Amino acid sequence: MFVDIAKIHLKAGNGGDGAVSFHREKYVAAGGPDGGDGGRGGNIVFKADSNLSTLADFRYKRKYAAQSGEKGGGGRCSGKKAPDLTVSVPVGTLVKDSETGRIIADISDDEPVIIAKGGNGGWGNQHFATPTRQVPRFAKKGNPGEELDVTLELKLLADVGLIGFPNVGKSTLISVVSEAKPKIANYHFTTLTPVLGVVRMGEGSSFVMADIPGLIEGAGEGVGLGHEFLRHVERCRLLLHVVDVSGSEGRDPIDDFNKINKELAVFSSELETRPQIIVGNKCDLTEEAEVKRISDYFTEKGYKFFPVMAAIAEGTDELINYVASALAKLPPIKRYEAEPKPVEDLTIKKKRDFTIRKCDGVYFVEDCEWIMDIMNTVDPEDYESLQYFERVLRSSGIISALKAAGINQGDTVSVYDVEFEFVM
Ligand code: GDP
Ligand code: MG
Repeated sequence: MFVDIAKIHLKAGNGGDGAVSFHREKYVAAGGPDGGDGGRGGNIVFKADSNLSTLADFRYKRKYAAQSGEKGGGGRCSGKKAPDLTVSVPVGTLVKDSETGRIIADISDDEPVIIAKGGNGGWGNQHFATPTRQVPRFAKKGNPGEELDVTLELKLLADVGLIGFPNVGKSTLISVVSEAKPKIANYHFTTLTPVLGVVRMGEGSSFVMADIPGLIEGAGEGVGLGHEFLRHVERCRLLLHVVDVSGSEGRDPIDDFNKINKELAVFSSELETRPQIIVGNKCDLTEEAEVKRISDYFTEKGYKFFPVMAAIAEGTDELINYVASALAKLPPIKRYEAEPKPVEDLTIKKKRDFTIRKCDGVYFVEDCEWIMDIMNTVDPEDYESLQYFERVLRSSGIISALKAAGINQGDTVSVYDVEFEFVM
């Protein structure tokens, strides 16, 4: 079965906790703190694999978790960082945040992309010795790894997409112009999964053609088969619209053409305006005059029309040569840009948990993973940004909780990676 959409859960590895330890040696009294740092948690990395053609694997395995980093040890020993977890996906997979629909990445080339970041390891107590605090009995917890639901959406990478009613000869066409061998049969919907074929033009030039299942009326509104397949022509630079000039199934090819275009328009206004070349197939089954009528109709509308007999590869060379020259003038295949994370809206009251722990005069704000996203966007060099951070601390109730815990001017506050002096 062809699967081109899937929702999975990702949990990157947590950072290992820092260690609390003191140097011990015979005859050496009161050794200094030597607790090592925790190791970084594993990232979850997505990588395109050209051997994969569907997202079917993700129907069975829906949860992906990377390992946590190791804890720090004594003697300034850092914990081991956890390995990244690599998830292989078909080329052309869009990764979206399931909650917001934000595009996180378009996995379309060889570049691996980190989708969920592992947490940094916590610092061991070796870092916390100061002239006034010689015996720090605390270390930092590791930062939590990112956790999120993502929706994977396969959008094939092809230069040319074949569209048209079922049975007009799309699969036959791709099979004679490329090495692709899709199923060809005289009944509707023989093509149930998109098929990619490379069309070689000689001299090292080639382009990729996609045969997608036939579109039927109402496809744009999700009725019946078709809608789900339209996403595979979204990236195509050019569409070959195949019609059956003989009307061998009792339909009029011009009528077919208009119906399909209506479907495209319903699906997306971008697809509606994608350049199209019309392929009039099955010329062997009709009169020349009829072919001319259809050809004239399209030519008048400004389309390039090619009469062919796909079954015997008649007229297909001219078609392919023209397609190659048309592609040379078109922009490259669309890549989706990653969308930035939206800035948190403070006016929306959300449940913001946290706990405050006091140790050695330091106030630790913990168990508040929600703050990680915000802290990642805060620039400590920028006044505005710091003010924003302060508003978050205030609106979430952290400031008042610190006061209730007895904090004084100048005491140290520690929130995951960040440490600052408390100012009343
Ligand atoms: P698709 O559903 O659009 O992919 O159509 P297919 O490629 O599976 O073809 C449907 C039927 O039309 C098959 O029986 C083909 O053999 C037949 N066919 C394809 N091209 C031609 C042609 O040029 N002439 C004739 N007479 N039949 C063709
Ligand atoms: Mg087919």
